[in-house]
Amino acid sequence: MNTQDYIEIENKYGAKNYKPLDVVIERGEGVWVWDVEGKKYLDCLAAYSAVNQGHCHKRIVGKLKEQAEKLCITSRAFRNNQLAHFYKEICELTNSHMVLPMNSGAEAVETVIKAVRKWGYKVKGVPEGKAEIIVCNDNFHGRTLTIIGFSTEEQYKDGFGPFTPGFKAIPFGDAKALEDAITENTVAFMVEPIQGEAGVIVPPEGYLKDVRRICSDNRVALVFDEIQTGLGRTGKFFAEEHEGVESDVTLIGKALSGGCYPVSAVLSNEDVLGVFMPGEHGSTFGGNPLACAVAREALKVLVEENLVENARDLGTYFKERLQAIDSPHVQDVRGKGLLIGVELKHELGGARPFCEKLKEKGLLCKETHDHVIRFAPPLVITKEEIDWAVERVAEVLAATD
Ligand SMILES: *Cc1c(COP(=O)(O)O)cnc(C)c1O
Repeated sequence: MNTQDYIEIENKYGAKNYKPLDVVIERGEGVWVWDVEGKKYLDCLAAYSAVNQGHCHKRIVGKLKEQAEKLCITSRAFRNNQLAHFYKEICELTNSHMVLPMNSGAEAVETVIKAVRKWGYKVKGVPEGKAEIIVCNDNFHGRTLTIIGFSTEEQYKDGFGPFTPGFKAIPFGDAKALEDAITENTVAFMVEPIQGEAGVIVPPEGYLKDVRRICSDNRVALVFDEIQTGLGRTGKFFAEEHEGVESDVTLIGKALSGGCYPVSAVLSNEDVLGVFMPGEHGSTFGGNPLACAVAREALKVLVEENLVENARDLGTYFKERLQAIDSPHVQDVRGKGLLIGVELKHELGGARPFCEKLKEKGLLCKETHDHVIRFAPPLVITKEEIDWAVERVAEVLAATD
């Protein structure tokens, strides 16, 4: 079968909830992937940062195979020997008191919503049913009903109501807006340290520090959704470290498994996750031994291969090289580490055609919020590979009038 055959079958049988680029990938290794025609591409999306460690990392895949042959799942009705290791290692590595493992990012977000509400009622003393959670405009926290209910993106919500009440959205990057929005019933403020899906929006310097102080002053739990920005992506282990702040709760997912398996986790102080009692929350697959073994190895790879440092150093290099491209079509180049957004001038009418042209040249990127191309390759990328990518970006921009 060729590319077109695969596309036709997908279009015939599949729900159309995505509009992928027309490339059918069959193999991956490091930053590279190959399509069914044998053509090679540099992956500059890295599965929305799920594959920070690079495609099919040998050590992670090796662990996956080894554990799969031993034990895959017990359910949490029984204990398994991987869970304790995973708990201890991740809490020590991230300075957390407690962890709750789930599968997808959206499930981690749902988990924290339950936890902070219960914390509000049991610990803070908010009257039953009144808990409020503050979020930001243009947030992205996943696709479940409760989560899209507090999205400010009309397309995410249209036709899916009614929604869960108890959320309030404020402008991102505006600490004063948070101060003004907090009431005695506010239990949490949930925010991405850098907004990824919104178009790689970096908040003003000092914002994370300010929101930390405001949350502490008002006894509001500060939740950082680091599902995309965490695990080295921005050149620090967590993006919150750029301002030296610590959240009350941090959410991780995506690269927690190196892209080999869905694994997410809620990391918190004892206060927030401490509210859960037996029977109040759970997941059949959450914390299964296969997930734990894969996540343990994926974390070791991040640390032992110095991928956080690589993201910092090569991220700076990549951003500077993109900024140096002399093109009238570029509005802005921004980001931290290997999470970089190139915003095109809006009169060009969108970044999608650029992504299609980049694909023809062997570079896989995805537009986000119409005008922005996100460059977020696996963190194992080298300087030579960045040079190769920048050359192609410059060519495509130069060929546009
Ligand atoms: C991807 C993402 C999620 C949702 O994760 P899923 O695994 O797709 O459910 C949540 N928050 C952020 C910031 C994300 O980037």
